[in-house]
Amino acid sequence: MDYDPEGGAINVRFLQADKQRANFIVQNFNLETANSLRRVMLAEIPTLAIDVVEVLDNTSVLADEFVCHRLGLIPLSSVGVNDLIYSRDCDCEGHCDQCSVVLTLNAKCTGSEIMKVYARDLVIESNPPNDDLGRPVITDAEGTGSCIVKLRRGQAIHMRCIAKKGIAKEHAKWAPSAAIGFEYDPANKLHHLDYWFEESAEKEWPKDEERINLDGGPANPDEPFNYDAVPTRFFYDVETVGGLEPDAIVTEGIKTLQTKLASIINELSGSGGGADGMDLGGAQSPTMNGAGYGGDAGYTTPGYGGASQWGDAGGAAQGGTTPYGATPYGQNW
Ligand SMILES: [Zn+2]
Repeated sequence: MDYDPEGGAINVRFLQADKQRANFIVQNFNLETANSLRRVMLAEIPTLAIDVVEVLDNTSVLADEFVCHRLGLIPLSSVGVNDLIYSRDCDCEGHCDQCSVVLTLNAKCTGSEIMKVYARDLVIESNPPNDDLGRPVITDAEGTGSCIVKLRRGQAIHMRCIAKKGIAKEHAKWAPSAAIGFEYDPANKLHHLDYWFEESAEKEWPKDEERINLDGGPANPDEPFNYDAVPTRFFYDVETVGGLEPDAIVTEGIKTLQTKLASIINELSGSGGGADGMDLGGAQSPTMNGAGYGGDAGYTTPGYGGASQWGDAGGAAQGGTTPYGATPYGQNW
């Protein structure tokens, strides 16, 4: 859709989009929803990360816990992560191919040189739903990924890593985005910022001229301050850690936000019933579901007590339709 600087319906303009980042403007939006989208993209999109590590051998100089923590923070490809179910919702004991991806790290130094063990040495041993899911993200020119541990002659490391689906609300290792730039008033026309300065704020704070121009130009000092002005243009800069592409983060973020809003509408209206086929489990923290570990009790959220009103939809929302569209309210928005 073309960018409409004079207002109108919500529209989106992409300034830059590649495999690492997506830089875009959303226009005719409100600040609350824009910020909600930012927060959801930071913390509530499911990804895959190593969650349990079985230490079979570790004679390196690093303690088991130290290495395990590093393993958890290694970005893994999360393409198709919605084909996995949350481990808490799975009937298996421990882990299985429906809820986890298993990787092994097995290295021993036999030479006199120091051996570095890298993220690329993590080998998938289970059968994930697609070839990408669980693969360590490697973006460096050498093709090694992050260094996990260094070994000297005779030292060895052998670990079995179980990667599970989760969200960053539970642990930062599940964060899909490294950073999200968010700006709504580049020229400070709304005076939401109070710049600290020594002599002159004008001189000491660099201006983003491109964004200011996209936001209607610099402030006119002769114009009286408009107390009723509200921000309408929002500049996002989404940077991925590599597990999901930036456009996937944005679309999943919108979907997650729609799901959360739909659950609020349903709660407020009091119209329960699981016949809608809605799956509201997507934005749920793995440890926040209380008694929901039974597998067949439907999705639970901390605020709602026991079984959810949405029933166990078995991933209907993952098939491409958003739950929001299926509510009775969908048409009116
Ligand atoms: Zn399982």
